[in-house]
Amino acid sequence: MRTPNLMIDAERLWSDLMETARIGGTTKGGIRRLTLTDEDRAVREWFRSQCERIGCTVRIDEVGNMFALRPGRRADLAPIAIGSHLDTQPTGGKFDGVLGVLAGLECLRTLHEAGYETNAPLALVNWTNEEGSRFAPAMLGSGVHAGVFDRAYADARQDPAGVLFGEALDGIGFRGDERVGSIALGAMFELHIEQGPILEEEGRTIGVVKGVQGMRWYDVEIVGRESHAGSTPMRSRKDALSVAARLVIDVERLARDVADAVATVGMVAVHPNSRNVVPGRVNLSIDLRHPDAAVLDELELGFEKVLKTLEAENAITATLTRIWDSPPVPFDEGCLASIRKASEDAGFPWREMVSGAGHDAAYIARIAPTAMIFIPCAGGLSHNEEEDASFDDCRAGAQVLLQAVLDYDRRFADSVPEFQRSRSGAR
Ligand SMILES: [Zn+2]
Repeated sequence: MRTPNLMIDAERLWSDLMETARIGGTTKGGIRRLTLTDEDRAVREWFRSQCERIGCTVRIDEVGNMFALRPGRRADLAPIAIGSHLDTQPTGGKFDGVLGVLAGLECLRTLHEAGYETNAPLALVNWTNEEGSRFAPAMLGSGVHAGVFDRAYADARQDPAGVLFGEALDGIGFRGDERVGSIALGAMFELHIEQGPILEEEGRTIGVVKGVQGMRWYDVEIVGRESHAGSTPMRSRKDALSVAARLVIDVERLARDVADAVATVGMVAVHPNSRNVVPGRVNLSIDLRHPDAAVLDELELGFEKVLKTLEAENAITATLTRIWDSPPVPFDEGCLASIRKASEDAGFPWREMVSGAGHDAAYIARIAPTAMIFIPCAGGLSHNEEEDASFDDCRAGAQVLLQAVLDYDRRFADSVPEFQRSRSGAR
């Protein structure tokens, strides 16, 4: 069966993007919509009402993940999901995450207006706290759904002001009563901006994302001794910050020496952070990524070696704690086949690629067939208020998303009866 000529309405998608960008909109044209804040509540309410307007039932789980469900012909099939996130970084852009949810909404509207009935039900998902900038770790809602974290762990996360995730969720009134993980998904597709420069540089419209590279987060604590900046001679100082500075340089050097590795020290806290006190303690973060777990191990060993050397040379103590490990994730071949076919059928130039950033899809891939679609963003810039994606590329991404979901739905529904037959035949 051929796909009917269902075309998404790009003007409507664009106007949704611009309308919701005003919720937490910044003067520089970006969005500040941290998870579980009043702005997040406002965009969640907008999302729920838009989904209900086209006949979807919106169910919410105990960590605030929102599932807009559209029935299919067969209630026995688990829904095919389209999902991403509506929260942003403190100085975030208009497309990171938001595009995946709003393009999904546009797909559902297109199906609704055409009266198109899929075989499997569909679920449009807004995952809670993807960004991880208010409550670490990132991808918390999808992680809980996939069983990587439990609900109690999520509730106990704390923001820099000491507010717990659970309190903030109750505060905005979005703790639902669906048990976490209870809404089973048959598959998931996530559309996202690339957040890197490759598609734009090559003049391609669609990235068929084969997987996500591995990621590790570390906390480092360096403890020296605070002392008077005027009366402590240089020879008798235990300056934690000068040691930290050397570590930052070495982290960069180690990553530069390994192909495809990236490492970032993005957060440094100096104690007591006073102009006339030799810094006694420094806490800093390291974000490390590579497509191969063995290489991550090697670099981690490298960091530990550097810290040992710095300890030996400087009379300070230094500890490296791995606080998060997200192994490399390969995506599902069946979902990828649907995205390739959709890109070909829709006539957009595409290439296969690996995601450099973490995404909700990385966790969902552990429990359901999953894959991602990328579109270019200007200059590869993301997590920045100037983040930008073109009208045409957003249209292309949403169209490929729709066609991939419909293609998967046809093949998925075909394969399930066979699975059931083979099981009953074995009895
Ligand atoms: Zn994102």
